[in-house]
Amino acid sequence: KGFWRFFKLGVSVDRDPGKDCLDVSDALLQEVAKVLEFPVASMLPPDAFTVLRKSFDARKSQKEPRFVYTVELDVIKLLNLEPRTWDFISRLEPKIGLIEHTPNERVVGDLVSIIHENKKINHDRFPGENGHSSSLSSYKVPVTKKPKVAVVGSGPAGLFASLVLAEFGVDVTLIERGQPVEKRGRDIGALVVRKILQSESNFCFGEGGAGTWSDGKLVTRIGRNSGCVLSVMKTLVRFGAPESILIDGKPHLGTDRLIPLLRNFRQHLQDLGVHIRFGTRVDDLIVENGHVGGVSVSDSSGRLQFSSEKLGFDAVVLAVGHSARDVYQMLLSHNMELIPKDFAVGLRIEHPQELINIIQYSKLANEVRNGHGKIPVADYKVVEYVQGDGNNVPFSSQRSCYSFCMCPGGQVVVTSINPSELCINGMSFSKRASKWANAALAVTVSPKDFNALNFYGPLAGVEFQREFEKRAATMGGGNFVVPAQTVKDFMNNKLSATTLPSSSYRLGVKASNLHELFPIHITEALQQSISAFDQELPGFITNDALLHGVETRTSSPVQIPRNPDTFESTSLGGLYPVGEGAGYAGGIVSAAVDGMYAGFALAKRLDLYNDDI
Ligand code: FAD
Repeated sequence: KGFWRFFKLGVSVDRDPGKDCLDVSDALLQEVAKVLEFPVASMLPPDAFTVLRKSFDARKSQKEPRFVYTVELDVIKLLNLEPRTWDFISRLEPKIGLIEHTPNERVVGDLVSIIHENKKINHDRFPGENGHSSSLSSYKVPVTKKPKVAVVGSGPAGLFASLVLAEFGVDVTLIERGQPVEKRGRDIGALVVRKILQSESNFCFGEGGAGTWSDGKLVTRIGRNSGCVLSVMKTLVRFGAPESILIDGKPHLGTDRLIPLLRNFRQHLQDLGVHIRFGTRVDDLIVENGHVGGVSVSDSSGRLQFSSEKLGFDAVVLAVGHSARDVYQMLLSHNMELIPKDFAVGLRIEHPQELINIIQYSKLANEVRNGHGKIPVADYKVVEYVQGDGNNVPFSSQRSCYSFCMCPGGQVVVTSINPSELCINGMSFSKRASKWANAALAVTVSPKDFNALNFYGPLAGVEFQREFEKRAATMGGGNFVVPAQTVKDFMNNKLSATTLPSSSYRLGVKASNLHELFPIHITEALQQSISAFDQELPGFITNDALLHGVETRTSSPVQIPRNPDTFESTSLGGLYPVGEGAGYAGGIVSAAVDGMYAGFALAKRLDLYNDDI
């Protein structure tokens, strides 16, 4: 009675004693014993402890940066020790203030296992229902006809929706306008080296979606310990991600790890019978009586043997991301409701990584060696709230300006899908070993800002993005050259000298006055915030830091309304808008979670399982 089985304990040390996995190392067990004031570490059974989280804490409030572990203690396993330790255990809680906790994370598995497990449970509960012999015999799948679903887009949302549906036995066709990672890699190489942009295979379009040639950060604001996030993470581990993402406070993959992971994901989907059609673009929906009955597709690779094809489906999951502006236009042609939403625009700042290491770690910066050392390359996260003063702002507003998609040891990349609209983002490899640190500095904007530039209607936000992307392309002079200015000159509204500090951006930078890019209230919000960031991170304003224009695609400018329970569009039956493009996610993990939930909702709608999982 009153007995708690699981406790969390914190271990904070200046040298890393761990192994980047769930198991405790011998060295970490020594540290755990010290925290517990248990005299003989070797008597503690390692399997009574599991690492829940590991982070490197370099906050200025700390005297010294520390490695911080959160370790779960299972008292039942400790009780297997010889009886004289029982007395010790009874004194644990009052003595060191351990926190009782319910270890929901232990019971959450990867998606494939969860669904298999549920199939088993349901099978036990409904033995032989439907009387057919497949592994889905427990479900209400009609024997004669498997439901047919199209998933449009192979980004995180589309992949996870496909996985769930295929595991439930749905006949899934995954349609992707871009190329598989192998070919996509060559197309991106041609863009970065020879400035040849393939409009359908680039940093935004292709297998894995926008998140493939990215930093692969797996941080999310939707609850790091929630069951849905953990099962997405465990699914990524199942397909090849390192176990460290399960415990790392700031989990990160990097492009080089994402590519093999996506191949394994693809193989698993194909093993489940998913038809994957790369180089195939959905141009239209086939709508009959307010219900989607299929899609019309065409060859987007220029190499396939068809010009246009109509395909029938029972339902369509739309997971196209927010760079597919043609899809928004197509949805409007069906009178679908689309709602403009707030997002953020700004510039991408790049510093020498060494400088960020020094700002964050002081003396310890020497111990960071190109991502090989135990101490991670330093990152930062800053935010500032700026009040519009009424003079330069056409309406009274409070905005936030924040760092976004920070890529330590990364590079700035071009995410345009046509040459006349220039936009950028950041990516990195797993070692984060480049000599630069980049991050977007983005200012929130709302429909009032779009209207102030005379953009109205459901796609006003898209027009707003496009306006600055066009201006940036013109200022750079074309050919993907990016307009750039040192942060000091930006603060002083002065054109930088033509010889700019070096940039990781491979397609060229051109000295330009970035004050000519945005309306004055956005420029001023950036200036005020950068000043504040320099207080927080002294040295942030320096001649060595370069601002690049323009960052416009921080999140979707549009939301496609849907029923919160069924995930079905509120204006078109049979259509399931998901992920970032539909306005329900912002980042790899949240898009994957949204796709996963949509998969479950649709499987339930198709009567493929009975319970909530
Ligand atoms: P997307 O990933 O955009 O996928 C949509 C897919 O649909 C694409 O593959 C596209 O080709 C396909 N498609 C579009 N239209 C059609 C059509 N008509 N027919 C067929 N297929 C179509 N997020 C993070 O969490 N961490 C990061 O480190 C990170 N870094 C990023 C770096 C870069 C360079 C970029 C561009 C984005 C980054 N993001 C990052 C954001 C993240 O990639 C997205 O939030 C996420 O990929 C959204 O997932 P999604 O599945 O909703 O859409």
